Amino acid sequence: MKRNRQTGLGMTRRAFLRGASLAGAGVVVGGWRRLPVWADSLPYGAQSRAEGLAQAPALVDREFASARKIGEGVYAVISDTTKGSQTLCNGGFVAGKEAALLWEGYASPAGAAFQLEALRLATKVPVKAAIDSHYHFDHSFGNAQYAGAGIPIWAHEKVAPLMTERYVALQNHSKAAFFAPAENHLRDAISDTDKEHAQGDLNTLKFLAGQIDGAVLKLPNRSLAPSELPMKVELGGLEAVIETHPGHTPGDLILRVPAQDIVFTGDLLFHRSYPVTFDADVLGWLKTLDAFGRMGRKTVFVPGHGPICGQEGIELQKSVFADLAQHARQMAQMGVPLAEAQARYSVPEQYKSLGLFAWGFCIEQAVAQFYEAARAGKI
Ligand SMILES: [Zn+2]
Repeated sequence: MKRNRQTGLGMTRRAFLRGASLAGAGVVVGGWRRLPVWADSLPYGAQSRAEGLAQAPALVDREFASARKIGEGVYAVISDTTKGSQTLCNGGFVAGKEAALLWEGYASPAGAAFQLEALRLATKVPVKAAIDSHYHFDHSFGNAQYAGAGIPIWAHEKVAPLMTERYVALQNHSKAAFFAPAENHLRDAISDTDKEHAQGDLNTLKFLAGQIDGAVLKLPNRSLAPSELPMKVELGGLEAVIETHPGHTPGDLILRVPAQDIVFTGDLLFHRSYPVTFDADVLGWLKTLDAFGRMGRKTVFVPGHGPICGQEGIELQKSVFADLAQHARQMAQMGVPLAEAQARYSVPEQYKSLGLFAWGFCIEQAVAQFYEAARAGKI
């Protein structure tokens, strides 16, 4: 039996909550050490710049998300998905003396409304645009709020077609084909654990189907082509840069504030959880993580999910990928069929505290791609 399970999209509320609460617990993950302190004095008793910023008092806190200042004119929005699903992902905004850029479309208009509320507490400058980091529902289903406020929505050129194909086409249509891979997996499960994973994936798809049918979908109205990127955006004494990097989906953007060493990564960084890989390019993603690693030890990352972090967050995600790659390589060398190789991955002790949104969305596709790469002699 050779099968490469192609899973659908999304994740269950339960799994989201599990991932988020684990991520929020601040559990120390084994296998990596805290980076050395690089500043003479850090605020709030923190041991690193990122940790200090994460602990800064909130500008506004609505429990499901809070906004805080992390630089001059730079604000992060961090979600707590145990308290509500309005935002689900992290985001933020960057504001100069003349204009502001909003980062992320969130999971619902209420999430985007929270971001606008936070922005207006910080500044009255006009909004130049809102940017979706990528097409996934939890980063784009709040777009209607921005559109209603007359705010242009920018995204990578792949975002509008992917939203159309994966969400618009499915809205209020039969989901039989959408559920089929997980249902087939459930039927053909090779062990109790495998069955549990398949059931989790199916629950995830059902949750997503509900999100899609309930959404007011609004596509980005400015598509950024890779040839236009990186793009500098002058906001009045503050320059932001939009870049594209491979990895999480076919079209991901990041937002940098180079003068302050701050990077909004979108889902190219999942901090303290397994990365979602179901439509990823994992080898490209490793190159992106190397690029993040070269951004310097002072750099602060606002990940797509999980707490604000420094380079230790990049190291952790690289080590998770390395573990998945090692498993896949070993299975390929032993001639274990792919479906069995996918089922046989077990989360090592040092990663048990990490969030895991859904098995199929995080583990299976990563194992499949590393397995193929191993067979092709690429890893
Ligand atoms: Zn995503």
